[in-house]
Amino acid sequence: MLTNSLIEMDRQHLIHPVSSFQGHAARGVRVLASAKGARVTDAEGRELIDGFAGLWCVNAGYGHESVVEAAAEQMRKLPYATGYFGLGSEAPIKLAAALAERAPGDLNHIYFSLGGSDAVDSTIRFVRYYWHAKGQPGRDQFISVEEGYHGSTSMGAGLTALAGFHEGFGVPYSWQHKISSHYTYRNPLKSDAEIIAASVAELKAKVAAIGPERVAAFYVEPIQGSGGVLVPPKGWIKAMREACRELDILFIADEVITGFGRTGPLFACEEEGIVPDMMTTAKGLTSGYVPMGAVFMSDHVFETIAEGAGAKAVGHGFTYSAHPVSAAVALEVLSLYEGGLLENGRKAGARLMEGLQSLSDHPLVGDVRGRGMLAALELVTDKDKKTRLPASVQPATRLFDRAWDKGLIVRSFAQGIFGYAPPLCCTDDEIDQIVARTKAVLDETL
Ligand code: PLP
Repeated sequence: MLTNSLIEMDRQHLIHPVSSFQGHAARGVRVLASAKGARVTDAEGRELIDGFAGLWCVNAGYGHESVVEAAAEQMRKLPYATGYFGLGSEAPIKLAAALAERAPGDLNHIYFSLGGSDAVDSTIRFVRYYWHAKGQPGRDQFISVEEGYHGSTSMGAGLTALAGFHEGFGVPYSWQHKISSHYTYRNPLKSDAEIIAASVAELKAKVAAIGPERVAAFYVEPIQGSGGVLVPPKGWIKAMREACRELDILFIADEVITGFGRTGPLFACEEEGIVPDMMTTAKGLTSGYVPMGAVFMSDHVFETIAEGAGAKAVGHGFTYSAHPVSAAVALEVLSLYEGGLLENGRKAGARLMEGLQSLSDHPLVGDVRGRGMLAALELVTDKDKKTRLPASVQPATRLFDRAWDKGLIVRSFAQGIFGYAPPLCCTDDEIDQIVARTKAVLDETL
């Protein structure tokens, strides 16, 4: 059978991202064959609802012919153009202008990467260059947040605070520091105000301990995604932004997941009216149809780097920076968001939250949280003690498998958290099915 031979070839040759080299191969890959809207079909012909939009990226949903056409037309006309040697092409120029127009505040300058990890990595290099240009090269220490995820490049993986990305790789480096996550469900502090004050105090104490003249930047996700969809209290990100201004360190918002309608508005930073010094995006930028990421840079960072470099080239860039095909796709995806998908996502997100809230009485549901089309259930065996599911349940694989058997793809985190990030195009019925199928998995797990 075709599927069996694919499974065997996969086992022999394909190294999967963030997967057990042994365990994954033993189980055998599940082969996806096609997709439309919010539904994917596997190689056996079974249809599933994709409650996680691939890897929280297919925000627009699958199968938009206009996106396919935009890519095909660009490939026919000009499949590649470098941005080196002062050259350029129409689609990335138009995309940069469109993004700058929509970005918060003065994030007017866009550097295109291939995805989120290299967008973050690029900001690390831009931050260092910025401080050199300002005559403060000693500012080489970076701070991020426990439970945070900022990609898995050799530098970004150390800003990431998840053990699996560190063990055996020799990161984090000594210049990469962390403060505690807000993680409201498991935070011993009770009120939002206390949690916010504690995070601000911890950031200030960390900067003081490192030496204020040595700290370069603070990195934060508006909602921590890979840490388990951890939503900060309202006002938290604004307070952290203000603290960074006070401390005179750069504030970098990592919107790789939260950007492009995932939480309601185009960018999550808009919700609290904050303007980062730099912002990273990827995923929803092209809705996963082709790879692309974008670093948004504020006027003052851009001008400082420009002045510092003078006529010299700033030595950072990739062959595929500002790829015209990716840019053509992103422009079309942006028009789909603005042509109704953002609006639909906001409505569907409210329905999703309502549906998941209706499961909060279930004996296994300890916490329901989220914003827009980004949500999670944290599963526990004892609600008072907030006891995590035992390892015997193997949340990451067994719960994923159970959901799959019910025709639902969700992210099943090892800590016993179900993560949801459905495409913004979901119908009411699809949202209701996501909730109903989740309930069926929970009932079976009791
Ligand atoms: N930053 C955040 C917040 C992410 O969630 C991710 C990926 O999930 C990344 C960076 C890395 O992006 P990519 O996987 O496209 O390299």
